Amino acid sequence: MGLDADQVQRLLAMVADTRDEEIDCGHCLAGMAEFVEVSLLGTELTEALARIEEHLTTCPECSEEYALLRELLREGANS
Ligand SMILES: [Zn+2]
Repeated sequence: MGLDADQVQRLLAMVADTRDEEIDCGHCLAGMAEFVEVSLLGTELTEALARIEEHLTTCPECSEEYALLRELLREGANS
């Protein structure tokens, strides 16, 4: 490949930045209902749900979605 040392360095930095266990918003939203349910029940998070929790701490959009869903489910459970 025609990469010079500088390009190789940048590629390596990109790879190091992206951790395997990170999920995107699509994955986060797909598992959101389960995550809310488990967090309301207070049972232990699976690895997949822990990733969602981690995503929520870094993503304001998903975090907002989570707050809304949690509110809805809590109201449903109380009525
Ligand atoms: Zn997100």
